Amino acid sequence: MEALRGVVDPELEMDIVTLGMVRSVAIDHGSVSVVIALTSESCPLVGRIKGEAESALEKLQGVSSVVVETAVMNDEERSAIIEKLKERRKTLPMPGKLPKQGIKRILAILSGKGGVGKSSVTSMLAVEMQRRGLKVGILDADITGPSIPKIFGVSEVPFVLEGKIIPATSSKGIKIISMNLLIGKEETPVVWRGPLVSSAIRQFYTDVDWGELDYLLVDLPPGTSDAQLTVLQLLPVDGIVVVTSPQELAGVIVAKAVQMSRMLSVPIVGVLENMSYVKCPRCGEVIRLFGESRGRQMAEQINAPFLGSLPIDPDLSASCDRGKIEEYRNGAFEEVASKLLS
Ligand code: ADP
Repeated sequence: MEALRGVVDPELEMDIVTLGMVRSVAIDHGSVSVVIALTSESCPLVGRIKGEAESALEKLQGVSSVVVETAVMNDEERSAIIEKLKERRKTLPMPGKLPKQGIKRILAILSGKGGVGKSSVTSMLAVEMQRRGLKVGILDADITGPSIPKIFGVSEVPFVLEGKIIPATSSKGIKIISMNLLIGKEETPVVWRGPLVSSAIRQFYTDVDWGELDYLLVDLPPGTSDAQLTVLQLLPVDGIVVVTSPQELAGVIVAKAVQMSRMLSVPIVGVLENMSYVKCPRCGEVIRLFGESRGRQMAEQINAPFLGSLPIDPDLSASCDRGKIEEYRNGAFEEVASKLLS
């Protein structure tokens, strides 16, 4: 049992003895046989747990043969493990930030409400970075929205290789992970409670084989509530990009974004105003549908760089709808990207 204390269930992050997963140990001279009870039959980590248990036992002096079998927990064992996990939760410190892995910079894209173009901006930013020779990934944490895979016309289902999730790849090589790729049908609404969302996001970060990246862009769910806070608390985010539109009650998102940035010590690296104006295709007149642009003023208020204003462009929404964002170009956005990357 002592030797088995070194075997940690990677998912539950506790050793299998403390968790009460070792159902029996039988020793007959040098032969040891052990039964480990797992939470489910299809536990993906069964091979790993079994292997680690075998090698821990084989190392022991006097042991000549080892047999490790696995079984599925009975109701009693399952209730006991749930109690253990509940106990642990009480004593657990606030989660620390996850390690950076091979990713140089992580930017989180935030907006106060849905529909301001956060996902479109995230996608364009990724495309612009990729055009500049940077290696980019997008973690679509906007679990409730349909967007990122659709914008890139990507539908390949991510698969698991050697315990890591291999993300989907856009036609130009941008790595994408999104709940929408996993649940298949785009129309299926995802209605999840907060803790599930944050655990999915955590997995998207830790279990996906991102490889070496210059930038990982995290498309956050709209708003500035717990979901966003959890992501920012968990992931080693380097900066927040705020996307607004002139329709937004700018003051609210600004105050909240600043509060979040202070709480988490993550700087706001840019404010971008989307859907600022329409340019008449015939005469070039600029029409400000939602009134005067407030993005610059807002950025100044919070002492963050103003990245620029983007027009309403039917070509952009058409490109997003057709999954052809990588073919779309926009001078105004190139300037925005240059400012952010300078
Ligand atoms: P969010 O992620 O903030 O909810 P989306 O990026 O999904 O918003 O954008 C909402 C809709 O507006 C999409 O149909 C998108 O194609 C469109 N859209 C976003 N920005 C622009 C723009 N600058 N010009 C035209 N359409 C846009």
